[in-house]
Amino acid sequence: MENLTQISFPEFQTGSVWLVGAGPGDVKLLTLYAYHALQQADVIVHDALVAPEILALAPSQTILEGMGKRGGKASPKQHEITQRLIELAGQGKRVLRLKGGDPFVFGRGAEEALPILKENIPVRIVPGISAGIAGSAYAGIPVSDGQSNQVISFVTGHDTSGQVPCVNWKALADSSPVIVFYMPIKHIDKIQRELLNAGRKPDELISVISNATTSAQQVLETTLENCALDLENSNVRSPAIMVVGPTVGFRAQLMNCFN
Ligand code: SAH
Repeated sequence: MENLTQISFPEFQTGSVWLVGAGPGDVKLLTLYAYHALQQADVIVHDALVAPEILALAPSQTILEGMGKRGGKASPKQHEITQRLIELAGQGKRVLRLKGGDPFVFGRGAEEALPILKENIPVRIVPGISAGIAGSAYAGIPVSDGQSNQVISFVTGHDTSGQVPCVNWKALADSSPVIVFYMPIKHIDKIQRELLNAGRKPDELISVISNATTSAQQVLETTLENCALDLENSNVRSPAIMVVGPTVGFRAQLMNCFN
């Protein structure tokens, strides 16, 4: 491959919707595919989590519509977002639905795509780099290590109605040395209690990373027994991920490998 123009991307057809992952924030983590989509789209309907630096890559005539869900704040309902995408595609636009991270990782990507497909509107899914993986890495934490874990679990801290998700905590605690929580903050007390009750050690290492991969990244290092209190006393806020497990210990050596 001599240069990027030789990559053959699919044509962004008029009247179609592309559901694209924008990665966790650092503009350099945008995929070439997502960049291509940004150049072709007529209108970009984006999440609250999509960084302004990424939206700035779109040509100046591209219409930007902010339409995202953000825990706690008034946000459009899922069906309103889908209706808007259908409406725009019906007007013959190339509609780019840009979402943080990867559309299929706690991103309700299928929920958005299916009603659009039902209207016979073509949909293309473009994966992105998920915050749970790259966000951990930018804090110097590998989500797996040959010696410490053969299993990684990605868990959401709350379900679509905001409740603690229905998780078999004992099975999770027993089988997954490394657990990465998305949206951990709202129910941190409950998560802490469940993991302790399920047998995870009080001195187990935990890291909570907010605004990971961006210039506003904040990292809290704590333990399972102290995590709820330490979080409350820190300036780490949403959006954040939380990594539980032995690979958090790599941070001391790897934290400067991502600056
Ligand atoms: N589809 C996204 C996740 C959407 S759910 C992905 O694959 O990354 C939204 C949650 O993702 C946030 O509440 C937070 O837990 C996490 N998240 C997204 N971007 C983040 C970032 N830059 N730093 C930390 N957490 C982030």
